[in-house]
Order: sequence, then C-alpha cells, then structure tokens
Amino acid sequence: MLMKILVLNAGSSSLKYQLFNWDNQQVEAKGNVEKIWIEGSFIKHKNHEGNKSEFPGNLANHREALQKVLEILVNPQHGALERLEDINAVGHRMVHGGEIFKTSALVNAKIMEILHSLIPLAPLHNPANIIGIEAVQEILPWVPNVVVFDTAFFQSMTPEHYLYALPMEYYEKYKIRKYGFHGTSHQYITQRACELLGKDYNTTNIISCHVGNGASIACIQNGKALETSLGFTPLEGLIMGTRCGDIDPAIVPFLIKNEGLSADEIDTILNKKSGVLGLYNGKSSDMRDIEEGYVAGKEPETQILKMYVNRIVRYIGGYAALMNGVEVIVMAAGILERSPLTRALIMKQLERMGASFDETKNDFREQERVITTPESKITVIVVPTDEEYMIAKDTYELVK
Ligand code: AMP
Repeated sequence: MLMKILVLNAGSSSLKYQLFNWDNQQVEAKGNVEKIWIEGSFIKHKNHEGNKSEFPGNLANHREALQKVLEILVNPQHGALERLEDINAVGHRMVHGGEIFKTSALVNAKIMEILHSLIPLAPLHNPANIIGIEAVQEILPWVPNVVVFDTAFFQSMTPEHYLYALPMEYYEKYKIRKYGFHGTSHQYITQRACELLGKDYNTTNIISCHVGNGASIACIQNGKALETSLGFTPLEGLIMGTRCGDIDPAIVPFLIKNEGLSADEIDTILNKKSGVLGLYNGKSSDMRDIEEGYVAGKEPETQILKMYVNRIVRYIGGYAALMNGVEVIVMAAGILERSPLTRALIMKQLERMGASFDETKNDFREQERVITTPESKITVIVVPTDEEYMIAKDTYELVK
C-alpha cells in the first residue's frame, strides 16, 4: 500500500509540516506557517525539488492554517498530492505526555481526553498540539492521527533520576518531577549514531547533545535514557537562547520580593529574557552574533560563549561519571550541527577525558561526521537531527 504521512508540529502561533512518502522515504513537501492569530501570517513552502514559495494570508487559527497548507499540497503547481484522500495518516508532535505516555499513541476519544488532562503540565504547548489534532479530525475525518511525545523517550528514567529533593507531597499532588524534552531528537540521533558507527545500541554508553535555541543533554545506557538536563519544564540545565537553564532557585523569591514581580512576570523573564539574550543585554539570542564577537575578541561575547560551553562540558562530565564511562558523544541541532567553533571549544575540554579531537575533520555543517581520531577512546560524532522523520516512523508503525 502506498503510504503518505503528513507530520505536523503545531506551536502557539506556528504550524510546521512535512509530507513523507514512506515507500521511498522521501520528503515530498515541507514548510512552516508563521504568525497564526497575528496579522500578516504567511506560509513558507518547499516542494520535493527544493523550490521555495511563500504564500501570504491572514490565518485566524490553526484550522485555517491547516486548510491553507492542504490547499498548497494539492495545488498542481507547488504541491505533492493529487488529492487529499492520498494522505494515509497524520503524525503530531506533542510536547508533554506526562507519566502516562511512554510511547507514541494512535488517537481515539480516550486518548484525546487524557491529552486534555495533561494541559496543566504544558499550558503553552499542549493546547496548540491538541488544536492541530482537532483541525485534522475536522478537515480530514478519515485519517488516523498519531501523537508522538517529546517526553516519552525519557519515561525510562527511574525515580532516583527524575525526583527533585522537594517535599514528596508535591510529586504526589502535582507530579512535579523531571520529565525531559527533545526526546524524539535524542532518540533519533543516538540510534542513528550507533547505526553509523556499527555499535550495539543496547550496550553502548552514549551522551547526546541537542544544542540549538532550546538545548539539552541526555545520557543513554543499556539502550534507555538514564537522565537528561531538561526537567519539569524545558527550562532546566544548559544555557539556552532565551532560557536561563540551571540557577539557584532562591533567586526566584528574591526577585519576587525585591522587584515586586508576579509569577507570570518571573516566568517570562526566566523563559524569554534570560540565557544568551539576557547575558547579551537583550541584543540577540543568536549564537552567530556571539561567535562573531568572540572571534573579534570582544566582550561580553567572549564571556557568554565561555559560560555557554562550560555548562555543556559540566553536563557531559557529570553524565560520563554517572554512567561510569562514555563511548560515544553525539552532537546535534542548530548550533552543534553548524558551528565548528562551538564544537571545537567543547572538544578542547574533553581531551583529558579521552576524546581526541581531530580539528581537520571539523570544518563542515549539517553532515553526519566523526570529529575524533580513529584512536580516540571516546568517539564524537555529529548527526543532524530529524524529529519529523522519527514522528513519521512512529506514525507508520502504529497505522500500518
Ligand atoms: P535550532 O533551535 O536547533 O533551530 O537552532 C537555532 C540556533 O542555531 C540559533 O541560536 C542560531 O543562531 C544557531 N545557528 C544557526 N546557524 C548557526 C551557525 N552557522 N553557527 C552558529 N550557530 C548557528
């Protein structure tokens, strides 16, 4: 049977899509709707030949956005489908699956009910993902929907890794614990790394670094995620584009008292005004700007990049110790896929740990490549992430 799978990733004001032909593993079209709800929405679309086009249009909600995407997909000039009936399944990225979803799931009424019950855990993200499913159910009622969770891969964590040292009543009452995010990406890059290196996934100690605007590090042992840096929300751990990562939690009540901030205001500061952007006095959250200043020997860029790298190295070292050794380190996402400089700064700190960096192999972007010497005790490999592929794969497995 010909299998066409549409992958949707609905954000609060955006909708990313990719159409897969699962029979030949080709992406037939992909794009992004931006500024849904906001005036001046537009769709950036790429067809199977890589030709780009842009479609303006005021799209008042995700349903209208999906309708417009489907029109483009069947448009003979830009599209990839003869008719909408050719879509066999839709896979949705869902940010939070709580403690309930340990794997992806085929959507039915019961699943929808559970998804709604998880909204308090991800009040900004899960509602947009749910609206995406409801829009498909309305417009393409014959199509099965599959949900793929950012948290599911980390459900293998045991309590000694996911509990916070808070009164247990908060875990029992609110399920406050570490969940971890970017799971689809960590799973993809680590499995792919083992495939490329000819290693057995179930017996290799792996550390994976997904470092883009959002960033996290995870460690995988015995084929399962042992621990990861993102926590109850996607705020813990590394310094990110606009998120602070690890800080002393006592800073929060201090700021509330001394700046008279509300809970929502402090949430906005920690999530949207901190990280690289905060350290850079609000000028930019883009690592390219930081690197440019670093290369020119400027401050505060040099200090920011050093802080950024230090935090990554601390997590790698901690996870290596936690697993009693690491054999493979995988690097992925916007910054580590594209930046030889940030990669090199991290690698220089890992030399004594047993990762012999081969600088001559490091000058590339977005390729699957090893950057350590053949003798290196730890193999470090760059693997461009592909969350959409993983979502399509799970969707295929559940509907085939
Ligand atoms: P992502 O969230 O994975 O899409 O990654 C976005 C981040 O990658 C942004 O902070 C970009 O500045 C950063 N980025 C993109 N291209 C480069 C590059 N060539 N060098 C360094 N950082 C980059």
